[in-house]
Amino acid sequence: MRLGIISALAEEQHGLIEAIEGPCKRTHGMRDYTTGKLWEIDAVCVLSRIGKVAAAMTAAILVEKFEVTHIVFTGVAGSADADVNVGDIVVAESLIQHDFDASPLFPRYQIPLTGLSHFETDVKLSERMAGAGQQFIEHGLANVISPETVQTFKLNNPRLHRGLIASGDQFIGKPGQVTQLKAALPALLAVEMEGAAVAQVCFELGIPFAVIRTISDKANEDAATDFMHFVKTVASPYAFDILQRFCRA
Ligand code: SAH
Repeated sequence: MRLGIISALAEEQHGLIEAIEGPCKRTHGMRDYTTGKLWEIDAVCVLSRIGKVAAAMTAAILVEKFEVTHIVFTGVAGSADADVNVGDIVVAESLIQHDFDASPLFPRYQIPLTGLSHFETDVKLSERMAGAGQQFIEHGLANVISPETVQTFKLNNPRLHRGLIASGDQFIGKPGQVTQLKAALPALLAVEMEGAAVAQVCFELGIPFAVIRTISDKANEDAATDFMHFVKTVASPYAFDILQRFCRA
């Protein structure tokens, strides 16, 4: 396995580059790709930046130029379900582009060429990622998140969910926006801006992939308020610890 690890924001991959043994950095298409050994795994780490095109470009380059055989995306997302709380973890079973609409030529959400609207993640890779996430909740969280931060963000009983994630080129936080998405896609657990783009590229190139997201906000009017604070103090240590458990599993 040669694993490509993508995040949108630097904080979502904080500490990872430093953890790479024998790192070698190569810049291509305005992004830095760092290759090396990550806890025994042959890995390539890269920041895609925000949005579907950025994520698709990064995933395709990882496969075509850096010859990765598997891809994982790790980052944060907004909750789209009343039972999914800030500090919870969502591992995607499938992903959809919620802003894609070529109707009436094609059914709503369907991606022409693939004939699909939902792109399924790799079962084995997602299982391994969910295992790492659950282990983190049970054994890691208390060691890497301070009691004050737990209190600030009410991270008392975080849970891991598995299901549908939707991506689009919008930060979801305007009144009614998430309610509308949930009404159209009742199984929806979380919203973000990259996962489904990586999913389409991996489907088209035949690459197994997984997406794991820490819930940073409720995708409502408060979504942007504490966003960066949360990403730095919570999502960063979550991602580092979970990826370490994933690689060592
Ligand atoms: N305010 C931030 C904007 C980041 S965009 C800034 O100043 O940098 C949000 C990023 O987190 C995207 O990469 C997306 O995948 C994820 N995300 C988290 N919450 C989201 C939400 N409510 N809607 C859409 N994307 C969200």
